[in-house]
Amino acid sequence: MNLILLGPPGAGKGTQAQLLQRERGLVQLSTGDMLRAAVASGSELGKKAKGIMDKGELVPDALMVGLIRDRIAQPDCAGGFILDGFPRTEAQAKALDQMLAETGKKLDRVIEMEVDEKALTERIVGRYTCAVCGTGYHEKFKRPKVEGVCDVCGSKEFVRRKDDNAETMKTRMAAYRAQTEPLLPYYSGRGVLRKVDGMASMDEVHRQISGVLAGT
Ligand code: AMP
Repeated sequence: MNLILLGPPGAGKGTQAQLLQRERGLVQLSTGDMLRAAVASGSELGKKAKGIMDKGELVPDALMVGLIRDRIAQPDCAGGFILDGFPRTEAQAKALDQMLAETGKKLDRVIEMEVDEKALTERIVGRYTCAVCGTGYHEKFKRPKVEGVCDVCGSKEFVRRKDDNAETMKTRMAAYRAQTEPLLPYYSGRGVLRKVDGMASMDEVHRQISGVLAGT
């Protein structure tokens, strides 16, 4: 099963993709995570992407399409994947259609996580992740069971994203509205779009997504 999770920054795409990955063995393909890894490694892609990401703007389509094209061709994606953060523009969506058609793969569902925009900045500025296993936490909504210790791997090191601040969030939201939101009619016209309530609790959103996938 191949899925896209669609929604603005802070909608919970990464959290839900991680749950689906653990439960169903689908591979989470987070373009944001891939780019942050490229920045950390100092690769050519990372050098090109860093300044753009820090400003909250979108990395050029050609780079993103190349990244995803290579990634979905890897053997671990054969059993299904969850796109988290891609596509973000119509050009990326069209390129995805083409690469799926070329490789004989199908897009089963696009899940829109509907959220109240006012809540997003609060979600974004409070979030952090385990530096070792990448599990996501939030100062207010999801603290580790033991303060300062990752629930999943026991690490005591956590990181925050540089672009998770109120100022950059404005640019990221504007990019979402102008370039990503138009993908909703694009996918709804093809009958693959389903909506879930992204404002519900993490478990409830997961339950709703599982309901959507049960009908797939
Ligand atoms: P995310 O972790 O999905 O919020 O992505 C972090 C940043 O990486 C975004 O603000 C963009 O600068 C960049 N990025 C991630 N995915 C894409 C994409 N599909 N197209 C363009 N830029 C992207």
